[in-house]
Amino acid sequence: MPIQALPDHLINQIAAGEVVERPASVVKELVENAVDAGATRIEIELEEGGVRRIRVRDNGSGIEPAEVPLALSRHATSKIGSLDDLESVLTMGFRGEALPSIASVSRLSLTSRTAEREHAHRVELEGGRVVSESPHPHPPGTTIEVRDLFFNIPARRKFLKAERTELGHIEEWLRQLALARPDIDVRVSHNGKILRRWNRQDDLLSTRRLDETLGEAFVANAMRIEADAVGIALSGWIARPTYNRAAADQQYLFVNGRAIRDRSVAHAVRRAYGDVLFHGRHPAYVLFVTIDPRRVDVNVHPAKHEVRFRDARFVHDFVYRTVADALRETRPGAQADLNA
Ligand code: ADP
Ligand code: MG
Repeated sequence: MPIQALPDHLINQIAAGEVVERPASVVKELVENAVDAGATRIEIELEEGGVRRIRVRDNGSGIEPAEVPLALSRHATSKIGSLDDLESVLTMGFRGEALPSIASVSRLSLTSRTAEREHAHRVELEGGRVVSESPHPHPPGTTIEVRDLFFNIPARRKFLKAERTELGHIEEWLRQLALARPDIDVRVSHNGKILRRWNRQDDLLSTRRLDETLGEAFVANAMRIEADAVGIALSGWIARPTYNRAAADQQYLFVNGRAIRDRSVAHAVRRAYGDVLFHGRHPAYVLFVTIDPRRVDVNVHPAKHEVRFRDARFVHDFVYRTVADALRETRPGAQADLNA
């Protein structure tokens, strides 16, 4: 075959392979867009584990009608405009590829209205191709509906798991959202039944969201931690060593509000717990790292599950020290000293 440039819809479907793994990835991308649009309320409706239908409605900034086609085209974003912006980015998105990728592997409708307009603009796409466009009544904000994920890619559709499993992945991601953004009202329903109602919480130090996401037992054993160093801060909750888990299933790490996995930080925490945990048991924690965005590269993974700290050793040691200091108080020896 001679070398040829691929058509746009094929490029988008290829990109979708990286960004859209399953319904949970769609929920994540749509909700992150709502968060970036400044929404204070997000409603998520799911059907059949999100495979049949995902609808995300927000009260954020909305999109100007003239910009809707751009929002749906590749590498178009309102979030960065230069390398300098990329290096200091604090929004969840910036790659401009989620919407076109999702649209290319589903039936998608986008309805959006800015506060200044009287009507919303609605576009419907099938497999990335626009099939209709019209004005539509809608309150200020955006609703995106994604139906029949992978309807045009049987090979991908085949890999989707049972409804329960897909819903489980979505719920896990929503827990991360609820922990990261207690200031946002979140409503979730599945097959017409209300699944979650997280009301916005004004006091960011309140443990209500922890209670609603990780449960009473975690809260009863949680210790608040807070520490600052140059250009970095760590806050959150760590569970007393007596509350430990058989799996690493309650370990949440957020870097500038983004939920990520990081081996080095996980290792730092594990080491801080050290010998107070039995072999094979895992600590539970919710940690928020706030760091100068110039000291962390968020553009290392298309789905942004990972980041790269410019000075990983420093971050590791800072986390280790903070957690170890907090845990020292819980050691039996420390208690004995206090009582002596
Ligand atoms: P990115 O988030 O990386 O910019 P997306 O493909 O997810 O890329 O979205 C493209 C653009 O569409 C965004 O930059 C934003 O301007 C607009 N957009 C998407 N979703 C929303 C929303 N819910 N509210 C307002 N604008 C949105
Ligand atoms: Mg996005």
